[in-house]
Amino acid sequence: MRLLLVEDDALLGDGLRVGLRQAGYAVDWAQDGLAAKLSLQTEEYDLVVLDLGLPKVTGLELLRWLRGQGKSAGILILTARDTIPDRITGLDAGADDYLIKPFDLDELIARLRALSRRNSGIVTPLLQHGAITLDPAAHQVKNGSDLVDLSAREFALLHLLLLHMGRVQTRDQLESHLYGWGEEVESNSIEVHIHHLRKKLGNSLIRTLRGIGYVIDKP
Ligand code: CA
Repeated sequence: MRLLLVEDDALLGDGLRVGLRQAGYAVDWAQDGLAAKLSLQTEEYDLVVLDLGLPKVTGLELLRWLRGQGKSAGILILTARDTIPDRITGLDAGADDYLIKPFDLDELIARLRALSRRNSGIVTPLLQHGAITLDPAAHQVKNGSDLVDLSAREFALLHLLLLHMGRVQTRDQLESHLYGWGEEVESNSIEVHIHHLRKKLGNSLIRTLRGIGYVIDKP
């Protein structure tokens, strides 16, 4: 999942970036409204965490612009002010959810999980394919009743392929979902993660389309 974090507070922004990356998101961090707008024009994001009080372009202006562009990313707004008008205006302008500062990182991550579920039209929190079950909330994968030990990137990759079951994901798409700005990507990293997933889950689950990408076919 690629996520744009828009937060001008350096300390909070840095903490959120680290926490969200540990939770498996590919995080880009914009520190003002203008930088955020540029990122949104050049990258596709699944989720946007948006502080309302921003320099250059305010969060609310950005939100209205974003929805005006017809972008479907899930948007969660952050507000320091516990004022009802602020939140209502944000929700009316197209935000999907909000949190009031200060908030708990675990709560933010839980809200984001719910948001991406709603956005992809998936009702159940569990993703299943044959004997394989992925639980995004518990960050767990089981093969039958056996727990499968996956790295954060392997988990993120499997999660993405299962969310888009039956639809081919290109290598570029997978890379952009797994790595944020400034994170080093080895040229064969996706192949390596796929290789590990196959060793752990069997060869037949993920199909390679040579020169294009990968797909998990519907069972
Ligand atoms: Ca702010």
